[in-house]
Amino acid sequence: MVRNSAERILTELHGEFRHIFDDQELRSRLLEACGSVSRVPDDLSYYLVDDVSVQTTPDGEVDVHWFCHLGDDRLDIAVFRLRTKELSLCGQSLSFVEGAKVASAMDPDMAEAVLAALELQKASGLDLFERWCFASDEWRRSHLICPVCGDRIYPYRADDRMFHAGCDRCGWESQKKYYYESKFADVESMKAERKRAKKAHEREMAFKEQYQKLTDQINSYGLAAIHESPKNEVFHHYLDGLRKAQEMLKNTETTMLEKLKSKR
Ligand SMILES: [Zn+2]
Repeated sequence: MVRNSAERILTELHGEFRHIFDDQELRSRLLEACGSVSRVPDDLSYYLVDDVSVQTTPDGEVDVHWFCHLGDDRLDIAVFRLRTKELSLCGQSLSFVEGAKVASAMDPDMAEAVLAALELQKASGLDLFERWCFASDEWRRSHLICPVCGDRIYPYRADDRMFHAGCDRCGWESQKKYYYESKFADVESMKAERKRAKKAHEREMAFKEQYQKLTDQINSYGLAAIHESPKNEVFHHYLDGLRKAQEMLKNTETTMLEKLKSKR
């Protein structure tokens, strides 16, 4: 039937990807086009952001457009013209699909067409999540991804019956809990999750930098201190300095523990 032919064509095309990219040269070009990944992604749709739509031409021909969302644009990877036949069933006229042929394509070779589309996605500079934001609501709902690295996610209900999600690849975990799984397909909610994850990462990096500076300073002070002779006056300055530093650290710890207590 015309109404389900587009999905059928897309499923068949996706099924062919595995065989097409068995070829070593094509595979290495594919890996490069996907952003130098180490293995062929399980589902190229996440990289292509591809979908299908059925359109009837002014002269009544039915075309299935296989396109990718490239930013705000829709770019046809290939257009298939359906050969249809009207049949009458119990007095009802139905349009059956007898076959399909390629009417136009980015490249007559489907592997080259896919590679060309992937190259354009890569050249757009958008990462997987940013590409995902441009897809339709329906597409996003069936392609839930981690807002940080773009890997596939599978939200689950936890004890509070709310939906949570986490990413096996980068360790991201949803900061918010959601009543509906479909919230993980909502652009604004996922952008907010991405922003929160970015902020948390920045705080973690700032801590690591501060901690490194602190330990470097302690090490260099300690090295100078233990090499000093007790015969020299400065030996006692080092010792005093050490005690003062310990006191300063202790005071900071007390303040932090107080903050923790008031939070409880
Ligand atoms: Zn991730």
